Amino acid sequence: MRLRNVPGAREAIQESHLTVNKPQDNKGKWNQEFGNENPIRIEIGMGKGKFILQLAKENPNINYVGIEKYSSVLIRAIEKCQELDIKNLRFIRMDAEYICDVFAKGEVDRIYLNFSDPWPKDRHAKRRLTSKQFFERYDFILKKDGVVEFKTDNDLLFQFSLEQVPEAGWKLVQSTWDLHNDEEMNQGNIMTEYESKFSAMGNPIHKLIASR
Ligand code: SAM
Repeated sequence: MRLRNVPGAREAIQESHLTVNKPQDNKGKWNQEFGNENPIRIEIGMGKGKFILQLAKENPNINYVGIEKYSSVLIRAIEKCQELDIKNLRFIRMDAEYICDVFAKGEVDRIYLNFSDPWPKDRHAKRRLTSKQFFERYDFILKKDGVVEFKTDNDLLFQFSLEQVPEAGWKLVQSTWDLHNDEEMNQGNIMTEYESKFSAMGNPIHKLIASR
């Protein structure tokens, strides 16, 4: 993602009622944040939030938390959420590495990863959001029958992810190398910002769903 410095973004994020500034205080109590017992789904690396905003709008009976490490893009998601007056969505500015400090065991119903950074160098493999090190974290926060859904157009990252699923002791529920031409998996698909951009360039979109 091309990141421009947005002056004042960090302060505006901190001041927004949609941001959870001390997310570790919500661990095990996210339902209190939303004031209901609805399931909680998260997107890690949500960028400007096109995908999670649409999901939240379409599913008012599900609660969503968007996680993003950079203020310059997160601020755009927050502005849009305010504009659309969406009630079932909160944001955290953090590195997902610390996700287990923020959600209790089994507190999350589903995890979305979209067009995650590829970290092409081998020595950075454990930073990839679909590495077995991240699946260990997901194993903690995700409820027993919860799933991880991952989309990308990056062949190498997708191949790596397909291999990490069994390596981490997880199962592949479904996968496709060409989501937009897979009638079953594409049903109800919500395009992310990167997905729109890369599919317009002719890149096939890959998707996998993993469970334990
Ligand atoms: N998901 C969006 C989409 O599909 O349009 C944005 C994709 S962009 C390539 C990846 C985003 O993930 C960036 O905004 C980046 O800052 C964020 N990101 C990458 N690693 C992260 C991490 N460890 N924790 C939180 N956010 C992360």
